[in-house]
Order: sequence, then C-alpha cells, then structure tokens
Amino acid sequence: MLVDSFGRVATDLRVSLTDRCNLRCAYCMPPEGLDWLPKPELLTAEEIVRLVRLGVERLGITEVRYTGGEPLLRRELPEIVAHTSGLGAETSLTTNGIGLARLAGPLAEAGLHRVNVSLDTLDPEIFRRLAHRDRLPDVLAGLAAADAAGLAPVKVNAVLMRGINQHEAAPLLRYCLEHGYELRFIEQMPLDAQHGWKRQDMITAEEILAELGQEFKLVEDDPRERGSAPAELFLVDGGPARVGVIGAVTRPFCGACDRVRLTADGQVRNCLFATEESDLRGAMRGGASDDELVERWRAAVRTKRAGHGIDDPAFLQPARPMSAIGG
Ligand code: SAM
Ligand code: SF4
Repeated sequence: MLVDSFGRVATDLRVSLTDRCNLRCAYCMPPEGLDWLPKPELLTAEEIVRLVRLGVERLGITEVRYTGGEPLLRRELPEIVAHTSGLGAETSLTTNGIGLARLAGPLAEAGLHRVNVSLDTLDPEIFRRLAHRDRLPDVLAGLAAADAAGLAPVKVNAVLMRGINQHEAAPLLRYCLEHGYELRFIEQMPLDAQHGWKRQDMITAEEILAELGQEFKLVEDDPRERGSAPAELFLVDGGPARVGVIGAVTRPFCGACDRVRLTADGQVRNCLFATEESDLRGAMRGGASDDELVERWRAAVRTKRAGHGIDDPAFLQPARPMSAIGG
C-alpha cells in the first residue's frame, strides 16, 4: 500500500498522458500556450501501462483517472485504457470534451467506466474569452456522446472566474439537471502557468453556494457519502440530483486525501502542490525491476506533507502548472 507518515493511504491514481492542450483556459495556461515536453520525455504507452499495472496489482490503487493536459490528444488513449481497465481499478477520464463525440464509444468499448468533462460556460462568446478557442459546440457534443456511450454518471467540472463567468453557476446547474449530468464547481487554485492567481479574485465555495441558493434549495447530502472525495455534495430541490462544490482552497480536504499523481514524464507527485517529485521514468529506463519501482513509489508517498499550505505566508506555487501535473 502507499501510506504516508500521517497514515493516509493513496488509492486514487491520476495519470497525466500529455501536458499539451487544445484550449487555453485562463486559470490554467497563457493564450500562447507553453513549452510542451519533448516527445522522448513522455512516458510511452507501454511504460504507462506498466506503472498503472504495478499501482493496481502491487500498491493498492483502486481508482485510475487519465488526465492531462488534454488526454484525448494522446492517440494511444483507447489502447492504454484497454490494457488497464481490466486490472480491477475503476478507470475514468478528465477531459475538456473536444474529440469526445468521436471517442466516447471506442473508450467505453475499451473499458472506460466514467468521464468528467470540464465546462465553465454555456455562452460561446464567454467560452472564446475564457478558453481562447471557439469550441463550445464540440464540448457539448462530447458530453452528449459520453452519456449516449453509457459513461455514466457523466460529471461536469466548472471553474468560475470573477468578471468572466461568475454569473453562470445557476445556468450551468440548470443545464446539467436537464441533461442528467452531475455538476461540480472547483475553486480556482494557484496552479496556473502564469502565476496570476489572486485570493481576492477567487470565487469561493461560499459564494457559489450563496448564488445557487437564490434559485435552488440545497441540502447537504449525507457526509458519509463523501468519503475521501473532495466535493461537498448537496441535494438539489429535494434530490436525487446533486451538485458538488470543491473548496480546495477555503475548505481543504488534505486530511482525507487519497490521491497520488504520475506526470506525463513519469514523475510521482504525492500532492498537487508538492515541490518534490520522484523519477520513475529514469529508473524504468535505467532498467529498474518491478520491485525497485514499487519501492521508489512507496518512498515518494511516505513524504507527503500534511496539507497544501496555501494559507502559509511561506507558500510557494509549484514550478509545474496544473496542465503539466495532471489535474
Ligand atoms: N484538459 C482536461 C480538462 O480540462 O478537463 C484535463 C486536465 S485539467 C488540468 C483538469 C481539471 O483541472 C479541469 O476540470 C480544470 O477545470 C481544472 N483546473 C485547471 N486549472 C485549475 C486551477 N487553476 N484551479 C482549479 N481547477 C483547475
Ligand atoms: Fe487545457 Fe484542461 Fe488546462 Fe483548460 S484546464 S487549458 S482544457 S488542460
């Protein structure tokens, strides 16, 4: 098992398949994009499958989520899913939805269980302003295709930004209720490549709940349902539909965190905000055995810090942005 010094057990593995993306969400990366990792530095599909297999078969991983950057840009995604979905862990995907209209069926056939699609606005103009691309119809088509392919429950992730889409909490929830998608709002975290995050600009979980409360009756769902999940869940208008709010900054859930991350270039990160990484790619390419990789991975998790420390005056944003860590 992957246990840290506070006794937390990491069972939820987030695997970044690429740092590249076809959108430029303002809270994530600059309009001009970033210097992408050179291809030889990315884990190959075989290397990813080997590490996921070790995680599930030797280290107690029970959930595997493929993410990025934009994971649908990785051509081998269906193949990677096909080789890992049968290992016994629940296999899911976080995507911006572009290309999902074409890939939802093949991914479901490859054994993908669930999908989270990021959708921050229903207004094409605001989408263009926020993501610097005119792709809202592709995202909506991707969502519909995921639903039709049975990747249920389809979850939607939304980040609200002050002065851009902050008024869209209620319209997004209405849209998700109409379509049977489960919506989660995520507080904006200091993980953008531009280092432009400001606490006073962040729309807090409290603000989001107040805004939704104007139109919907929200009652907190049984907290036991939450487990180690970061979202606080609320029944909407008596349920059964729910909405989640992830107060990553103002209501941190670090004490119950069960996540561990593998970057696209094969580094284990024990926290989104970690400043240290452990190099599994180098070890693997240097001929490390499965036993050695497993031991290195265990050691990397052992040093996980108690919390993200955003409120600590000495807080330093990690050098890698969210898109290169795997959100
Ligand atoms: N490209 C895919 C997508 O957008 O879903 C997967 C990667 S993205 C980094 C994963 C999730 O992180 C998305 O839901 C995105 O909205 C969220 N995200 C990115 N930057 C963030 C930030 N600074 N604060 C909070 N959430 C962020
Ligand atoms: Fe791309 Fe996802 Fe970052 Fe948006 S949040 S720029 S879709 S990686």
